[in-house]
Amino acid sequence: MLFQKQSPGRLAPPPALAGKKLWVPRLQVGGSRLLAAAFRSIGIDAEVLPPSDERTRELGARHSCGDECYPLKLTLGDCLKILEQPGKDKTNTAFLVATGQGPCRFGQYAPYFQSVFGSLGYPDITLVSPSFENGYADYGESSSLFVRSAWRGVVSADILLKLLLRTRPYEITPGSADALYDESLTDLSRILETHHRSYAHQMDELQAGLLRVRARFRALPLRKDRNRPLIGVVGEIFCRLNTFSNEDLARRLEAAGAEVWMNDVSEWLWYTNDEEARQFARTGKTYSAAALRAKLRNIFQKRDEHALVSLFREDFTGREEPDDFRDLLDIAVPYLPAEGASGEMIVNIGKAVYFARKGLDGVIDISPFTCMNGIICEAIYPRVSRDNGGIPIRNFYFDGTQSDLERDVGIFLELARNYRNRKTWPAPTETAFAAGARNGS
Ligand code: SF4
Repeated sequence: MLFQKQSPGRLAPPPALAGKKLWVPRLQVGGSRLLAAAFRSIGIDAEVLPPSDERTRELGARHSCGDECYPLKLTLGDCLKILEQPGKDKTNTAFLVATGQGPCRFGQYAPYFQSVFGSLGYPDITLVSPSFENGYADYGESSSLFVRSAWRGVVSADILLKLLLRTRPYEITPGSADALYDESLTDLSRILETHHRSYAHQMDELQAGLLRVRARFRALPLRKDRNRPLIGVVGEIFCRLNTFSNEDLARRLEAAGAEVWMNDVSEWLWYTNDEEARQFARTGKTYSAAALRAKLRNIFQKRDEHALVSLFREDFTGREEPDDFRDLLDIAVPYLPAEGASGEMIVNIGKAVYFARKGLDGVIDISPFTCMNGIICEAIYPRVSRDNGGIPIRNFYFDGTQSDLERDVGIFLELARNYRNRKTWPAPTETAFAAGARNGS
């Protein structure tokens, strides 16, 4: 049952994960922590992989040949760091490895991990690779419960990241926004890891938690600064969100005088839902039971998203996301129609156009070096820029060997400032956050 009534009490984990520790990859730390909490709510002992470091890079490089994507190397390295910890019973270890059937190498991650683990003498490591193709079956009877909680976690993590990025550039006390972000994550994790008596009860608790978060952020003293260029950030989902892989580019942009508006993770999930519907149509299953279940899931996800995001309408004035995800696909049509292409590149192109029309001062695409999505987008961005008043759009590629990032960020922001001074498009409406109208100097 997709929307079953929940019963109180602790749930038993699905048999494949009984007695095992599930490690969740460190994508964006907030999203990963809330996802791990959602796993715990269905009885799975889940934790986020520790932060990446030089050992991560070393292990990832040792067990790959150089042709693989940078996110694969980093997540593989992080997993191998867990396996090399002394005294751990490796048969009790499981890793979450996302998968998909898109046009690039993403679908090869899980088989590749399995073969590396096998060659190192760990053939029994459990890999969990949920996808709509397998109906998220890895979580047994709790699948629907997990999918709903995880979705609420994703939306909440997007909200938290927005609050952080709206606040951090203007904080008066260095580190205060990060501290608040961390505290808020702990608060929301406690709510999501609890097995609630009903979906409605979980939503009530989550909304109450988000209102506490909102009050904390609104009370943070901020300084006035109307001159920061607003930079939209799109790109490959791992590299864009994982601060180790992108050398913390968002923070560097802030340090150089910008404010960042990052693409939401929920956008990617809306895209995969949309792609799922197209797949049903392609295979003549539009009226199947599976397609109906997917439609119902979409309806409930839309409703949940609205219930959470609407609490922040005032805080995100001028930073509104499109009313409907499909609006992004529509504005991407002149460049990459969703019916003729697939993958993140469509979302990134659509969002770059959206950012330009919304009045932002520049767009950055963060992608791993040799990423197929990034390369295709790079070929299209000059046209997007030409069609939208010459807005600066630039790809930043990462593979762990960046040389002079500060210089490149500085040059890009100079372009963004020039564009800001000459553009005729209106800037996004100022809000209390951007104007520093409260508490600050
Ligand atoms: S999106 Fe880019 S980095 Fe990610 S798997 Fe595909 S090609 Fe590799």
